[in-house]
Amino acid sequence: MRYDVAVIGGGPSGAVAAAVLAKAGLSTILLERNLENVKPCGGAIPLGLIEEFSIPPELVEKKLSHMRARSPKGRTIEMHMPNGYVGMVRREKFDRWLRSEAEKAGAVVMEGLMDSLMPTGEGWLISTLGNKVEPFEATHIIGADGANSKTADELGFPPNELKVIAMQQRFHYTPEIEKFRDIVEIWFDGEVSPDFYGWIFPKADHLAIGTGTEDRKHSIKALQKRFVEKIGIKTESYLDEAAKIPMKPRKMFAAEKNILVGDAAGLVTPANGEGIFFAMRSGKLGAEAMVRHIKSGAPLSAYEQEFRKLYQPIFFGLEALQAIYYRNDRLRESFVAICADDDVQRITFDSYLYKKMVPAPWSVQMKIFSKNIYHLLKGR
Ligand SMILES: Cc1cc2nc3c(=O)[nH]c(=O)nc-3n(C[C@H](O)[C@H](O)[C@H](O)COP(=O)(O)OP(=O)(O)OC[C@H]3O[C@@H](n4cnc5c(N)ncnc54)[C@H](O)[C@@H]3O)c2cc1C
Repeated sequence: MRYDVAVIGGGPSGAVAAAVLAKAGLSTILLERNLENVKPCGGAIPLGLIEEFSIPPELVEKKLSHMRARSPKGRTIEMHMPNGYVGMVRREKFDRWLRSEAEKAGAVVMEGLMDSLMPTGEGWLISTLGNKVEPFEATHIIGADGANSKTADELGFPPNELKVIAMQQRFHYTPEIEKFRDIVEIWFDGEVSPDFYGWIFPKADHLAIGTGTEDRKHSIKALQKRFVEKIGIKTESYLDEAAKIPMKPRKMFAAEKNILVGDAAGLVTPANGEGIFFAMRSGKLGAEAMVRHIKSGAPLSAYEQEFRKLYQPIFFGLEALQAIYYRNDRLRESFVAICADDDVQRITFDSYLYKKMVPAPWSVQMKIFSKNIYHLLKGR
């Protein structure tokens, strides 16, 4: 069997890409290693994504507009989003729904682990482990197989850099953690993470608690254990999960006939590790570019250029924030102090919800700038 496009990996990036390709009339296969996969993930998504991809309300278990930032010394800042919310989804249901949308659009969805890509001259011969799926051909490939993308390796893309290892545990609600049911809490605390942050995300029937680090000197299990102890949880988790997060786009993620999307391309923002939005946006932009390429010969590099043009400033800004404020507890203390400012909160939430850099008036920019300098000097 020969397809126009094979999408390897059925997470958010791959499922969205397959749906766009199939809707445009291209013969498309979506190959997913495990259709029952539960991707380790906090499942926090912004309102802009929910609107753009018409995510059904029953998948959004919580709509949270109240957040709390906690500093190393235990200082807390309450933050409220007047114009929107963070949606909480559960990845096992969310990914399944996205794949069903791809199938409805006409994509063939198959379960199998891509094992090798052999060039055939006109495209690729794709084999799965143990030939679970009969080997098939595709003229073009979209690699959507996550942070450790084998597709990227097989196609010779430059390596994925800077991987955070993140761990998350799920706890059933008990009276001691009931207080977290309707709030997102973020811990900026070197004991919880020396270079990232810890999160407490409420879902309908459980609390997801996790942390991450880039630092290979620290054991992620030890950091997570300390975090849970600091929160004061005495009950056992019922599910522990861990995975890598790439936090820097690959040097190149569009080649002549093939592209990478989502985590496979390294499209997760530094500082906050947000990847679902960028996975789905890159899946959509990449597949649209693939349709133009196949139908009229337009270059696939247009996809990478468009993505970088839209989102490079956000990646750059968050990388700078992480490099400056996540270095030690004194700086983290300063960072949480800055979060108390109403203008900082408004700009942060406006940018988060729709991923557009919202320009603030000069007077506000100057105020934030001087506060940053003040707190940086204090933090040093
Ligand atoms: C602990 C943790 C918490 C996170 N929390 C958040 C959060 O709250 N909000 C947020 O926006 N982001 C979060 N992220 C990041 C987010 O999970 C990812 O950015 C997002 O899942 C990327 O989607 P994707 O489709 O590109 O890749 P993935 O979701 O990783 O999907 C890749 C798919 O490819 C499949 N696959 C892999 N190899 C093969 C193969 N060889 N053949 C076939 N199939 C294959 C896998 O089974 C998987 O289904 C978190 C990440 C972690 C690790």
